[in-house]
Formats: sequence, C-alpha cells, structure tokens
Amino acid sequence: MTPEVSFEFFPPRTANGRRALVETARRLAVFAPAYYSVTYGAGGSTRDRTFAAAAALLEAGLDAAPHLSWGSAAAAEVLAQVAAYRERGVGRIVALRGDAPSGAGPVAGDRHADALVRLLRRRARGDLRVYVAAYPETHPQAASATQDIDYLKRKVDAGADACITQYFYNAPAYLHFRDRCAAAGIEVPIVAGVMPITNRANLMRFSDKAGVDVPRWIRMRLAELDGDDAALADFGADVVTGLCRQLLAEDAPGLHFYTLNNPGPAAGVATRLGLDRSASG
Ligand code: FAD
Repeated sequence: MTPEVSFEFFPPRTANGRRALVETARRLAVFAPAYYSVTYGAGGSTRDRTFAAAAALLEAGLDAAPHLSWGSAAAAEVLAQVAAYRERGVGRIVALRGDAPSGAGPVAGDRHADALVRLLRRRARGDLRVYVAAYPETHPQAASATQDIDYLKRKVDAGADACITQYFYNAPAYLHFRDRCAAAGIEVPIVAGVMPITNRANLMRFSDKAGVDVPRWIRMRLAELDGDDAALADFGADVVTGLCRQLLAEDAPGLHFYTLNNPGPAAGVATRLGLDRSASG
C-alpha cells in the first residue's frame, strides 16, 4: 500500500511569503502529497494568515488542510471561519483544542478538540475530512496514557476521519499506541507525524515542551555534532529515514512531515524513502 504523505507549514506573513509557499508546495508535488496543512497560531494569532495561505494553495490547485483550534474563540466565530473555508473549497481541516499564547494562561478548561469536531460535523457534511491530533508518548497535560487514548476516542467518535500524531523518535511508542488505540475501538488511520532533525537546540526545547522523548543515543550524538551543520543534517536524515522505514514496514498508513517551513530535510527523507513519484516514471 502506498502511504499517504502530507507536509505541514506555518502560515507566511506576507504575500511574497505565500507565493514562496506555493512554489515550495509545487516542488513537493513530486511526492504526490494528499494535502499541505497550514498551522494555526496559539490563541488564533494567525487566523487571517492561515486562511490566506490555505486560499493561496487552493487557488494554485493544491489541496490545503488548514488547522483550526478552539482557543478562546466563540463557537459562532469558529463557525463563520469554517463557512468561509468551505466557500473557498476547503475539504480538510485539522481540528485542535490548541494552546493559549505563551503567558496568556491555560485555554478555557472545558474546551477540547472533541467539541470542535462535533461542531464541524454538525455544520459540514461528510465531504469535509476532519483530522485530529494524537500523542503516542501521551499529551503532556494528560493524567495518564489510558485517559489520553479515551479522549482520543471521543474525538474519533465525534466524527474525526483520521489522526495525525505528534512526532516521535521511538518507533515502538507509535506501534504500541496504535495497538492500544485499536483495542480501544479507534478504527481510523493513525498517520505518523515526522519531524526532521536539523537543529539540536530547537529540537530539545520543543521536545521538552511537547512531551516528546529524544532518545539518549540521539541526544548524545547531536551534542557531539552540534556546530557541524552538515554532519548533523546527515545524521538527522539517517535517523529519521530509518524511523520512517520502520514505520512503513509496519504499515503505518501515512507520514505527515513537519517542515517548519524548511522543506529540504523532509524532501530529503521522502526521496531516500523512494516516495518521489516523478522518478518512477
Ligand atoms: P485535546 O484533544 O483537547 O487534548 C488536550 C488535553 O486534554 C490532553 O491532555 C487530553 O488528554 C485532554 N482531553 C482531551 N479531550 C478531553 C475532554 N473531552 N475532557 C477532558 N480532557 C480532555 N498547536 C497550535 O497552536 N497550532 C497548530 O496548528 C497545531 N497543530 C498541531 C498538529 C498536530 C498534528 C499535533 C499533534 C499538534 C498540533 N498542535 C498545534 C499542538 C496542540 O495544539 C497541542 O498539543 C494542544 O495542547 C492540544 O491540542 P489537541 O487538539 O490535541 O487537544
């Protein structure tokens, strides 16, 4: 089975940035991605930019999946946004609770992504594909791994079509999680989120915050290679390609690349995996 590939971007700030995003997406089209997703800043801080980026991709004939989070927005505001997206032809949305902007305190306690999925499903027919986030190593705020899976099931029962995971570097964490999800009755695809390794400090900072384990052998090697960008990039590409090979050998249904708007490393991994569909003729 050919795995579904997708690429995630931050929304650019300017019209030039959007043009560059469209060009980048066109170059990545050799991997025949199912869609390009566009993130949504904490607290709705990028609402208009996310919309503009998704619209630019769609206008270029590329499938866009904007992320949408509840944050502190009112239901009416979220619904107005969904209506605008639907008018533009958006057929996929990544539905999230999201996080509050740093320093703004927690998101309103009773707001969870399952409620957003329910809202989307009430307003949009089955032709809207809804994706939700999943956490093989457990969401940092979850009381337990089991409870996190129970809540994931609520999102799926509310009408999510697929899950995209937080990135991870331990293949067994994903495989164990997938088995537990199946045992809990979660039957939708669980697409593996993939974060290329390019910068040690950023990776460590972000992983700590997101509750992602960077295995000791990777951390040790990154510490050793810090400052030698080319060697670190080579090592990162080897590690991430190896991880993806393991996942594909275990029939992961898809790979969702977090590009951080630097698509080179993700494209490098995808090429090494033989996912360049233009090369096969
Ligand atoms: P939820 O599913 O609501 O879960 C949040 C926490 O609450 C978990 O601990 C969960 O166990 C618990 N929980 C879930 N449902 C319930 C419930 N009904 N009652 C009580 N507790 C519950 N962040 C951004 O700001 N912008 C983005 O664009 C973005 N894109 C992302 C894309 C992916 C694929 C992933 C994996 C993450 C993304 N994030 C993004 C990060 C995400 O916003 C954070 O991880 C956030 O803290 C949780 O969002 P969620 O949708 O998973 O929340």
